[in-house]
Amino acid sequence: MASDALANISDEHRECRDWSHSWTPFRAWKIKGGGWEEHRLCVNCNSTLIRLIDKQGYTVYRRIAYADGYVLKGLGRLSANDRAAIRLASVKAHETGQMAE
Ligand SMILES: [Zn+2]
Repeated sequence: MASDALANISDEHRECRDWSHSWTPFRAWKIKGGGWEEHRLCVNCNSTLIRLIDKQGYTVYRRIAYADGYVLKGLGRLSANDRAAIRLASVKAHETGQMAE
């Protein structure tokens, strides 16, 4: 499936799959019981990381609300081969040429 799935991954989504998301603070507010709900936004793909912490700072809930199109429909977790193909596509997109000696 690797080649089919890879063909449909945007540059931004490929970056996040290869190097993981780049979370930036977005919003946070106090919730019932004295804890906090925090949302961070990925500057690459617009996914949102949602985290709830209690008043002592312990994480009680954490999930990612993925941007539209990020989750590859009908596919389970990416295999090691899929991830290898993503790395190759990523490095080829950012190749700058040989380092001077
Ligand atoms: Zn992302």
